Amino acid sequence: MTIEALGRDRQVVCDACPASYPNTYGVDDFDAMIADAKAAGWLVSKRGPKWLHFCASCKPAQLRGSLL
Ligand SMILES: [Zn+2]
Repeated sequence: MTIEALGRDRQVVCDACPASYPNTYGVDDFDAMIADAKAAGWLVSKRGPKWLHFCASCKPAQLRGSLL
């Protein structure tokens, strides 16, 4: 899981490139943050024990990779 802690705010950061979802969320708004990122085309994927986040640019490659 790549969730940057910015003070008490949280921000989703892509695991494959330096992109980050522009909005930050309070610690209590984790569900809203994930829902918004998904609505913006991000991929949120659980791989083993780890949550990974991919921006809309990296999502197609990640989806192809998961089919191999
Ligand atoms: Zn990316």
